[in-house]
Amino acid sequence: MLTLTLDNLRSKALGLLRQTSPGARVLLYHRVTDLTCDPQLLSVSPKRFDEQMQLIARSYQPISLRYLWACVRRGDVPHRAVVVTFDDGYEDNLTIAKPILERHGIPATVFVASGSVGGDRAFYWDKLEDIFLSDRMLPEELNITIGQEQYRWSFAGETDGYHNAGWSALSPTTTRRQAAYVSLCDKLRPLPYDRQQPLINELCQWASASPSARPTHRAMTAEQLRQLVDGGLIEVGAHTIDHPILAKLTDSEQRRQIRQCKDDLERIIDQPVQSFSYPYGTRSSYTLDTVAAVRDAGFDCACSNFPGKGRRGTDPFQLPRVLVRDWAGDRLLQEVGRAAA
Ligand SMILES: [Zn+2]
Repeated sequence: MLTLTLDNLRSKALGLLRQTSPGARVLLYHRVTDLTCDPQLLSVSPKRFDEQMQLIARSYQPISLRYLWACVRRGDVPHRAVVVTFDDGYEDNLTIAKPILERHGIPATVFVASGSVGGDRAFYWDKLEDIFLSDRMLPEELNITIGQEQYRWSFAGETDGYHNAGWSALSPTTTRRQAAYVSLCDKLRPLPYDRQQPLINELCQWASASPSARPTHRAMTAEQLRQLVDGGLIEVGAHTIDHPILAKLTDSEQRRQIRQCKDDLERIIDQPVQSFSYPYGTRSSYTLDTVAAVRDAGFDCACSNFPGKGRRGTDPFQLPRVLVRDWAGDRLLQEVGRAAA
């Protein structure tokens, strides 16, 4: 017996459509610039980024993270929706990425580590690359104590780094300088900032390098952050103060990193900061306590760094993202399609 009214039928059909909706893909970028050496493969060239944005505008429906959050909560994510995000807050997000995003009318969210805003110091991963993978000459031997452990590397016969430019950390190491870079990244990553930075100072002294960021690797200043949000196409989100692995911190230190970053950024841009991204973003780099701390700090949503799609039922505080490399357009479409599988 047919008991459904027309309205019931329409509502059931809409519900089915929503359940089978392919969901939104959130893209994760870090930098848009040409780099000679990019061992973490985090930079997309301006030409490729332009090509990628053109394809996104043509083949998908670009929406802001704020709008996605509202859609996920309603359980009604638009078909083929794509959100563009950036982590860390590099200067090229303003100087290179923003004009390209504007040209294609694509909104974006830039997650900023507030401690680096206007600061002089390089991110530790960039300084390790500058020391070990650049063409600078290094002393033949490095002895360094990290925690209770002593480490020694010999670079005899390999004191220049000319052959490291095209190498990435996703490939096997072929030089001792590459091995030292990978090992020191692994050893410094879990350390809190106040233990990490003295080691960077020690390494800089050993290599006769400056701890300052190179002009090509600068974070945005406060004034540049205001320029970034000017026009309303780009939003700023929080990414902690100094980019720790939050899972390694006490609950109170996690809450300080999360809350103070929000407060500092809101003071700088004079706008609410409603979204957050977990540094490193893998499932092991934060905990459920971290998620609770982000929610308690008053954020609307948070982004992770593992693949998937945002759809009905997705935790708005653990939105999956697709980490984008320096891919040609067809590869981007392939990877975005794969994230939806
Ligand atoms: Zn980051």
